Amino acid sequence: MNSQVEIHPEESRPQAPVDVVLACHQLTKTYRQGGNQLDVLRGIELEVPKGERLAIVGASGSGKSTLLNLLGGLDTPTSGEVWVGGKNLAALNANERGWLRNSSLGFVYQFHHLLNEFTALENVAMPLLIGKQSVADARAAAQEMLEAVGLGQRLTHKPAQLSGGERQRVAIARALVARPACVLMDEPTGNLDRATAKEIHKLMDRLNRETGVSFVIVTHDPDLAGALDRCLHLVDGQLVEGWHQGDSV
Ligand code: ADP
Ligand code: MG
Repeated sequence: MNSQVEIHPEESRPQAPVDVVLACHQLTKTYRQGGNQLDVLRGIELEVPKGERLAIVGASGSGKSTLLNLLGGLDTPTSGEVWVGGKNLAALNANERGWLRNSSLGFVYQFHHLLNEFTALENVAMPLLIGKQSVADARAAAQEMLEAVGLGQRLTHKPAQLSGGERQRVAIARALVARPACVLMDEPTGNLDRATAKEIHKLMDRLNRETGVSFVIVTHDPDLAGALDRCLHLVDGQLVEGWHQGDSV
């Protein structure tokens, strides 16, 4: 008998440690209303490596927004853990959670959620002011970020004076201004026409390449989902790989 063990080069090579910016473990969410119990999430496992562009797809009502809100610390799970930048959210108090969220994560929603009374510059500077940066530094960083998304000529416009695509670009600038490791997006281009959506997708790609930021994007757009690094489908409260019947509902 040959006692030699064959060593495959790819197995013996030490793996580089993956920098995980966001993760969850056995995450569940149950809504109770009246006598009804709705198990929306049933044990979600997820690791988002640094720089990954991840799509999450699934039928309407499958729990995509619920999952993003839990990952972003905007809501608390029924059970399970969420880890942001190597820290377990449940181990932090509300203050610490707020700081971690503000410094490590950005958020973009389908409807821009900008403050209507404030200019584009003020909207983008807001996370930095909340993070206790000086007004001068916050404004300088906000201007730089608005220039990066192509809105250097729109600094003093208010949301009502901007187009839908421009408003979403301001929202993206605001999500990125504090240099988060990961941006969570809930149907960021769902409200835009195709051409404008494509422009926003290109912009997200460029920012991903230039800054190494990870994106977790809930989307109904098969073109966008197919163009990203990975696509997971939320079905029956679990995340599974690939496309399934009922997508894009
Ligand atoms: P998706 O974003 O995939 O469309 P949601 O996460 O918004 O789905 O919702 C998933 C399910 O949970 C839906 O059936 C919805 O009605 C229900 N749901 C969401 N939020 C609540 C809540 N606060 N209370 C009770 N049920 C909720
Ligand atoms: Mg939703």
